Amino acid sequence: MRAVDIIEKKRDGGELTPEEIRFFVEGFTRGEIPDYQAAAFLMAVYFQGMTPRETAELTLAMAYSGQVLDLHDIAPVVVDKHSTGGVGDKVSLVVVPLVAAAGLPVGKMSGRGLSFTGGTIDKLESIRGLRVELTVEEFREQLRRVGAVLCGQSADLAPADGKFYALRDVTGTVPSIPLIAASIMSKKIAGGADAIVLDVKVGNGAFMKTLDQARALARQMVDIGTALNRRVVAVISDMNQPLGEAVGNALEVKEAIATLRDDGPADFREHCLTIAAHMLHLGGRVRHLEEARRLAEATLASGAAWEKFRALVAAQGGDIRQIEDPEQLPRARLIREIPAPAEGYLAEVRAYEIGMASVALGAGRTKKGEPVDPAVGIIVHRKAGDFVRRGEPLFTVHANEEGRLAEAERWLARAVRIQEAPVSPRPHIYEILSNVSDHPGQ
Ligand code: URA
Repeated sequence: MRAVDIIEKKRDGGELTPEEIRFFVEGFTRGEIPDYQAAAFLMAVYFQGMTPRETAELTLAMAYSGQVLDLHDIAPVVVDKHSTGGVGDKVSLVVVPLVAAAGLPVGKMSGRGLSFTGGTIDKLESIRGLRVELTVEEFREQLRRVGAVLCGQSADLAPADGKFYALRDVTGTVPSIPLIAASIMSKKIAGGADAIVLDVKVGNGAFMKTLDQARALARQMVDIGTALNRRVVAVISDMNQPLGEAVGNALEVKEAIATLRDDGPADFREHCLTIAAHMLHLGGRVRHLEEARRLAEATLASGAAWEKFRALVAAQGGDIRQIEDPEQLPRARLIREIPAPAEGYLAEVRAYEIGMASVALGAGRTKKGEPVDPAVGIIVHRKAGDFVRRGEPLFTVHANEEGRLAEAERWLARAVRIQEAPVSPRPHIYEILSNVSDHPGQ
């Protein structure tokens, strides 16, 4: 077999065989197929799509490109979550310790920022000393001892996804439903999950711009779960405006800490409780979703989730003093407020432009492997639907360079639309899909 033939077949709209998919994924993982051929393959998939059979095969090939964990000696039901990516999406930082503190161990492999969206691993690295690269043995040991792990993809787990993901970010091939579905589900399968809660984002600040696309992605991932015998719930939620107030690595860690201390912005707290409740329910911790929600609320209020986060950070070598006093997290040199240019109702506080502003500041990447600046980012003071007076602060920008600050300001000027007439805000959760018969999403 030759990589070029597989690329041409996909380019021309053919359906790849399981052998061809495995050949390509294995060859790319071993470094025998170079980045330029993988990039061409990804672009061919982007334009031609994949059949459900091809997507399931791609998922399996990526999952089995490395080790596949069996964690049943540690947890009878292994529950996991994954977001399709958004702006200000720091949900894992709260939900992983929260669910663990409520009695279900969670070991999660996360990604880095991708395009205009942030990534949990970049956020965690704003904590001094915190190790995100764990060996499988370390992962298992921490899951057994602490009950909670948040780490990057080790070279041993779904290595194909790590390589594809970095390449997609810089080749314009991120927003492809089969590529996203296979990327997410391969990581979950390699991580040994039995029950998976998917946080599917839709809107200008997500890869899926329309509800139809988000539904199609959610459906593909639920179907992959069904084919591979995993319990899956997909929660489709709004990403037309950022989640919470903070966008940028250390700023988001700070907001997650506030939320774990039972403070934090209402929309973000509510979203975390929803995802945590689905995980507790799907993972079999409680029988009913309402009970799961009450358990999540009580775990947050009692401080147990915060304690679990501290234990996770300590176990991974992070500096506890920094999270106990978040003012010690990296801070930017230049802080600038952006006022409302007019009086009226905020029709839009666009997540995409805010995400791009944060990339311009250096919180995200424009090239593969680039370092990110942990300190920079944006605080978003207002939500869509709010009334603002001219001159009231809309954003606070945290920057380290004047040139980048000016570019971020240009993006932010395009992020808001103010109108005279009141605005009815969009729903936060649109739909829930599931392959589990006793689930409300079914
Ligand atoms: N998140 C992932 O893990 N993979 C994608 O492709 C997109 C978002």
